[in-house]
Amino acid sequence: MSDKFKNNDNLIELCENTFYPPINLKNYQVEKETLSIIPQRIALAYAVIPLDSVEFILTVAMSDPLDIATIDNLKAATKMDISPVIASDEDITEALIKYYNKPTDSESIDRNNSLESDTGKFSELKEGSAQFSMDEVCELSQKTKIIDALNQILIDAIKLKASDIHIEPCQYYVRVRYRIDGILHQIHRMDKHFQEAIIARIKIMSRLDITQRRVSQDGRFSFNTEVHKIDVRVSVLPIDFGEKIVLRLLNQENISFSMEKLGFSQYATTAFNTALEKPLGLILLTGPTGSGKTTTLYTLLSRLNTDQRSLITLEDPVEYNLAGVSQVPIRHEIGLDFATILRATLRQSPDILMLGEIRDSETADIAMKAALTGHIVFSTLHTNDAPSAITRLLNMGLEPFLISFAVNMIAAQRLVRTICPDCKTSLKEDLSNRGEIPLQYRKRDVILYKGAGCKKCNNTGYKGRVAIIEALLFDPIIRDLIIHKASLEEIRTYAREKCAMKTLREDAMEKCLKGETTLEEIMRVTTEI
Ligand SMILES: [Zn+2]
Repeated sequence: MSDKFKNNDNLIELCENTFYPPINLKNYQVEKETLSIIPQRIALAYAVIPLDSVEFILTVAMSDPLDIATIDNLKAATKMDISPVIASDEDITEALIKYYNKPTDSESIDRNNSLESDTGKFSELKEGSAQFSMDEVCELSQKTKIIDALNQILIDAIKLKASDIHIEPCQYYVRVRYRIDGILHQIHRMDKHFQEAIIARIKIMSRLDITQRRVSQDGRFSFNTEVHKIDVRVSVLPIDFGEKIVLRLLNQENISFSMEKLGFSQYATTAFNTALEKPLGLILLTGPTGSGKTTTLYTLLSRLNTDQRSLITLEDPVEYNLAGVSQVPIRHEIGLDFATILRATLRQSPDILMLGEIRDSETADIAMKAALTGHIVFSTLHTNDAPSAITRLLNMGLEPFLISFAVNMIAAQRLVRTICPDCKTSLKEDLSNRGEIPLQYRKRDVILYKGAGCKKCNNTGYKGRVAIIEALLFDPIIRDLIIHKASLEEIRTYAREKCAMKTLREDAMEKCLKGETTLEEIMRVTTEI
């Protein structure tokens, strides 16, 4: 024991006078018994080291002894009075690794609540349902041609299962394209003189300002057919030849959030199930925009959505309403302080928290600490593959030990188009010399499949999409590799060789051999690693 701590009473007195003594942690050995007072995940989350305890007073080394929030949290966690002493950040990091580097309690805590699966019932979106004033109705009724034209555009989009409609004014005409299974197709072309009327009609339906033509606007309306109720998210952007409108179709009735519906392989399903069994920690999804991350997040949330748990999401924007979940819409562009909202959210003690996206180091830091202090946290990052997310987080300035202990799983995701069942044909191919294909699949006479193209699939040969996954599950060795600043390559090699991690291309290749998708499609969507 160091001399400094011979007289604890003195030390406490000093602290009460807001004079916090410094300590050199290198010269100090903490007893095992003392370490056990602050569990690993708490110590890591708050970057503190317990030093000594006398009766109900715990002496704790921290870099900022004026951090009242941390002291309060430690008090609550240990049921002791906290007496801080000052240590440098560097010393604390070193001590955390020295004393707490073995994943133990965060791995072994049993979940109290059973993992009941909930199919997730979704309430209907009510916002902005088109209700017109009499004046508007009168004005529009004189333009039945416009109303019919827009209705037709929407009905065709529903029939073709489009996710978005792009209405783009060009120099001499208006181009109407549909995004079907992720790819844009030009379907209609309108006369230029319909342009203003159709834009005005959409703006009125979504309650936007029709007089504003030089600013971007966002809105929403509902569209009902005999069988469908579609919510439409509208975005208007001024361009060269007028205003470009993108309509996002959200078909509330067709959504079901199950892993089977997402088309997960057995490998991906098992990986997510393993991660969801952990009582706390961060699950990160990575991939570019449009790779289906949000749908996967909703699926994972639905699985954990029971009456015994409190779920909160922070999203930009809220895409679907999940019954029983508190969803907070975030508008990044209007400069709301995301970190402030996140802190306020955590004060509501959610069991499960979903952040639409980790955009900056402050958010990442709060998310990690929430994950370490008893919350299940879901979020997304923009990286190409799962291991690269670790590098991204390190580049954001996060401490390796924080990433190492907070994260349970990183999954990269893409969507691949599936072959149209009505025109599917098989063909024999020689893959033995195809360098871009993962080694284990380079064989002769492999049976592959393709869509020949038919009426039902618009001659594309594809219908629908499924998710492919690269799942990196954190085990004690991966956590150790991160703490010891192993290279990305080392982590990737270990994950592939020892944890049976499949890359996106490998997971896709399995779908290809099963006849779910084509070789061209997986080459388009994945990169070689
Ligand atoms: Zn077909």
